[in-house]
Amino acid sequence: MEANGYDEAQQFLFKRTADTVVGSPVEIARTPTELAHTGQYMTQLATVLSTVADGLFILDGAGRVSHANEVGRALFGLPEGVQGWLFSDLLRPLQLRRADEQALDLVGDLLTPLLAGQLGPELRLLISRDERERIICLTGKSTRDDTDQIVGAVLLVRDITEQSRAEQEQDAFLSLIAHEVRSPLTSIKGFAQLATRALEGPGAGSERAMRHLLIIDQQTARLGRLIGDLADVSRLQRGKPFLNPLPFDLVPIVQGTVAHQRVTTPSHEIILTSPDEALIVRADPTRIGQALTNLLTNAAKFSPGDAPITVTLRRQGDAAELHVRDRGIGIAPEEQGRIFERFYRATNSSGGGGLGLGLFLVHQIVARSGGKIAVESAQERGTHFCITLPLARPEDDEDA
Ligand code: ADP
Repeated sequence: MEANGYDEAQQFLFKRTADTVVGSPVEIARTPTELAHTGQYMTQLATVLSTVADGLFILDGAGRVSHANEVGRALFGLPEGVQGWLFSDLLRPLQLRRADEQALDLVGDLLTPLLAGQLGPELRLLISRDERERIICLTGKSTRDDTDQIVGAVLLVRDITEQSRAEQEQDAFLSLIAHEVRSPLTSIKGFAQLATRALEGPGAGSERAMRHLLIIDQQTARLGRLIGDLADVSRLQRGKPFLNPLPFDLVPIVQGTVAHQRVTTPSHEIILTSPDEALIVRADPTRIGQALTNLLTNAAKFSPGDAPITVTLRRQGDAAELHVRDRGIGIAPEEQGRIFERFYRATNSSGGGGLGLGLFLVHQIVARSGGKIAVESAQERGTHFCITLPLARPEDDEDA
């Protein structure tokens, strides 16, 4: 008996698929009226299968395709009319590869386990289409008749390229964090031991111990910044309040931040030029200090010790301008547009550490304070960052 172009065996498979996918028991049609109903039912079921977001193939007990939805065909780049074809014959010309780089045996790895009960937990394959490599994930289950005999199988196929790329990025990020945390910790541990030895030994070297303690202090600060940056990014992502704006004079904040940086980064001379007049802006003073610290830390990180860093604060019309210049390795022109992105590290940073969060946070702080940040850089000549913040008008104070 034929209903809607499907023969009885196919109807049976559809019924079993319905039992698995839809979960409703279906009786096979026997009378003309039932047949008409079954026809309707088959049409409905085919519609349901066509709306499933995953690729779906229904196979008979011999591994032939009884039904393939559009998503499934598109995933493998198969044409319409694949019904009746051996599934393995359809896939063979596609030169699929296993994602775990083991040799792929279409029958042994896919069809046999599928038709024997279950393909699982999943099989990840690589497929090249339109010159792009996609990762697809296959899972499935066999279908059984009333006497518990296997009569076919349902195979679900999902494109997980984006998901696995995100997983890889997450893995890489976690190992980067582990590395970033481990290196200051190793240094802290080593210098703490050296400081202890210097103080214990004959003719106790308190000067040497002091040097070691300074390094411990610097490394602890590095760890603190790292954890602070991660917490800030998470705050921003969750949409939590980030700035606490109020009117304040930029001059003492910049002077104080530079003074602090001179202590923590004795390797570099920092030359500061600041105005005699007050420059009142409306922003978060702690965050502005943090932004300047990030710029100064980068300037020191990416320039040789004998190259001074210059900081210039000045009034420019209705705005305050803060310039930070170094004479370091510079940033390639094609990368300058990306350095404010979250997690972006330019090629010059190889081996230099960092999570690529510092400039992202600087940009967020400045932009959320109504200001702008610009960069100019020449390789092997140096980098110049300029932050512009609007000066607060007296009315702003009254609003506050
Ligand atoms: P990180 O914490 O990894 O240094 P940032 O967001 O602070 O991340 O900086 C992003 C990238 O921009 C760095 O990895 C580095 O490649 C580049 N960069 C930032 N500041 C400078 C600078 N002053 N000189 C040269 N390159 C810089």
